[in-house]
Amino acid sequence: MSTLAAVNSASAADRKVREVQHWINGRLVAGTSGRFGDVYNPASGEVQAKVAMATATEVDAAVVAAAAAFPEWSAQPALRRARVLFRFREIFERRLDEVAALLTSEHGKVFSDARGEATRGLEVVEFATGIPQLLKGEFTEQVGSGIDSWSMRQPLGVVAGITPFNFPAMVPMWMFPIALACGNTFVLKPSERDPSASLLLAGMLKEAGLPDGVFNVVHGDKVAVDALLAHPTVQAVSFVGSTPIAEYVYREGTKHGKRVQALGGAKNHMIVMPDADLDQAADALVGAAYGSAGERCMAISVAVTVGSATADALIGKLETRIEKLQVGDGMKEGAELGPLVTKAHLERVTGYVQLGTEEGAQLVVDGRSHAQARGEGFFLGACLFDHVKPEMRIYREEIFGPVLGVVRTNNFETALKLINEHEYGNGTSIFTRDGDTARDFAHRVQAGMVGVNVPIPVPMAFHSFGGWKRSLFGDHSVHGPEGVRFYTRLKTVTSRWPTGIRTGVDTSMPTLG
Ligand code: NAD
Repeated sequence: MSTLAAVNSASAADRKVREVQHWINGRLVAGTSGRFGDVYNPASGEVQAKVAMATATEVDAAVVAAAAAFPEWSAQPALRRARVLFRFREIFERRLDEVAALLTSEHGKVFSDARGEATRGLEVVEFATGIPQLLKGEFTEQVGSGIDSWSMRQPLGVVAGITPFNFPAMVPMWMFPIALACGNTFVLKPSERDPSASLLLAGMLKEAGLPDGVFNVVHGDKVAVDALLAHPTVQAVSFVGSTPIAEYVYREGTKHGKRVQALGGAKNHMIVMPDADLDQAADALVGAAYGSAGERCMAISVAVTVGSATADALIGKLETRIEKLQVGDGMKEGAELGPLVTKAHLERVTGYVQLGTEEGAQLVVDGRSHAQARGEGFFLGACLFDHVKPEMRIYREEIFGPVLGVVRTNNFETALKLINEHEYGNGTSIFTRDGDTARDFAHRVQAGMVGVNVPIPVPMAFHSFGGWKRSLFGDHSVHGPEGVRFYTRLKTVTSRWPTGIRTGVDTSMPTLG
C-alpha cells in the first residue's frame, strides 16, 4: 500500500474523514492528544481530513527515535547517505504528479504550480546528493614544522524543521535532504493546514532505504513547536513562516542553546523604470503577484512605478491581463488562480482589500466578486490597488493573497528608498533596460534576493535562499552552501607525529622557531 493510501485508510473509527497521523520511527502513529485540526479542500470548502495535534510526549517520542538513529546514520560514509537520496530522487520524480495533486487538494494552488513546487524541492535533493564533495574539508600540510592541520564538518545530531502552509513539500525539502545528507536525523513539524505531503515524503524516504528514526514527522501547533524548542536533545531548528512566529522561534530556540535559522514574512517590491519593456513587466507582475493566489513569500505585492506615464501605461496593461486570468479549482484544466488555503485566510485577505479602500487607495480591480460566485470554495480573484501610499497598512503589512498595490514615485532614488526603509527585505526586483541602473540597484538595495528583469529571484538549490531585515532571523540562509554550514559544525585538527616527541616535556609556547 502506498503511504498516501495508508494515510487515507487510517481513519479513526468514529470519524468520517481520514486522520492524518504522526510518523515516528518509520511508521504511522495515531495521535493521542484528542486534539485535531481541520484540513480543508480549499476548492470546495469541505473538511477532507483531521490532523492529529501532538502533545509534548509525542514530540519527545519522535526526538528519542531520531536520537537513537543518529549514531549509526552519522557513521555511514557520506556516499552511502547520498545513495539513499539518489533512490529517493528517483521515487519522487516518478510520483511527482501524485505529490502535486496532493498539494493542490490541500493547499489549493493550481496543479501546474504544484508541479513546479515539487520540482524546486527535488532540486535540493539533487544538490544534496553531492554531499561527499560538499563535506570535503581543508587541509594544510606543514602549518608548523612536522605539523599538519585539517578541518572537517560534522553533523549536529537531531535537528528540527518547522514549516509553513504555502509550500508543504518544497520548504521541508529545503531542509531535510541537506540535513540528512550531512548525517543528522530529523524531526519535521509541518503546517497543520496541509500536513499530508509530509507523510508522502516520509514513505518515499523509507522506500528509498532510509533507516527508521532518521526522519520523523509530528503534526501540531504551538504545543508541538514549543516542545521542540525546549527539547534538550534538539540541536538546531530551521523555521519558515510568518515574521512574528519566526522571531519567537529564534528567541526561544537560541534561549535554549540551539542553532536557529528562522525565515519570516515579506513585502516584495518590483521597481518598473520608464525604460522597461512594459509588456514584459506586466506579464511578470501578473505571474509574480497572483501566482499561487499570492501565497508565496517571494510574491511581488508592491509595484513601484517611476514616472506617472509608466504607472498609467502599466496599470492599463495589468487590467487587460487580469481580466483574462482563469480563477478556479486548481485541478481544472486551464485554471491559473486557485483558492486561498482556508476560509479564515480568505476573510483576512478580503479584510485587507476593504481596508485599502478605507485608507484611500484606489481599487482598480476588485476580485471579491469571484468569492461570491464560487459557492463554498475559498476563492478570491486578483485585486489591484493604485495610489497606495507608504503610510497605509496595506503597504506596510504582508497580506499574503492575490492583492497587488501600485506605489507611484517620480524617480529611482525615491523608489529605492521605499524598499530600503521597509521592515521586510526578502526579495525584490527591477525592470529596466539600463544596465547602470540595474547594477546600482543590485548593489544598494537592502534585500537578500534581487532580480534584474526577473520578478521572483528565488535562488537555485545550489545557491542559498534567505532575506534580510525582519525576513530572516539567524545567520544562515537555507539550502545550498549555507544549508551545509547550518547543519554541520566545524572541527579543526592540528596533528604532529614528530620524531622527537619522546625527548621530553617543553612547557613554553610553541613557535615556528
Ligand atoms: P505561520 O507563521 O502561521 O506558521 C508557520 C509554522 O509555525 C507552522 O508550522 C505553524 O504550525 C507554526 N506556528 C503557528 N503559530 C505558532 C505559534 N503561536 N507558536 C509556535 N508555532 C506556531 O505561517 P504560515 O501562515 O503557515 O505561512 C505563511 C507565512 O510564511 C508568510 O508570512 C510567508 O511570508 C512566510 N514564508 C516565508 C518564507 C521565506 O522563505 N521567508 C517562505 C514561505 C513562507
